[in-house]
Amino acid sequence: MKALQRCKCCGEMKRVRVRDFSPQAWAYLLHWEEIDSSVVGQPICSSCYSDLRELLIDRSSEMEQGPEPSIASQQAIAAEMLHNGLPQDPIAS
Ligand SMILES: [Zn+2]
Repeated sequence: MKALQRCKCCGEMKRVRVRDFSPQAWAYLLHWEEIDSSVVGQPICSSCYSDLRELLIDRSSEMEQGPEPSIASQQAIAAEMLHNGLPQDPIAS
């Protein structure tokens, strides 16, 4: 995997990879408006990944104290991740 791809997060051509954030982690990043919903479950570059990961670590106390993103939004994100992970379905336009 040496091909460069546009990172969905910063928009630069980088070596990107799908990161193993949980739906809950994505939900928090969305909740804090750190990412756009189009970034959820998408491959991102290592610098974006470390930024987001640091953010999650920095704000982990906030995550423990809540308010938590709603279960509905977490489910929507899980569905989005699943959707993004699958090849485009030509039937569901
Ligand atoms: Zn990036």
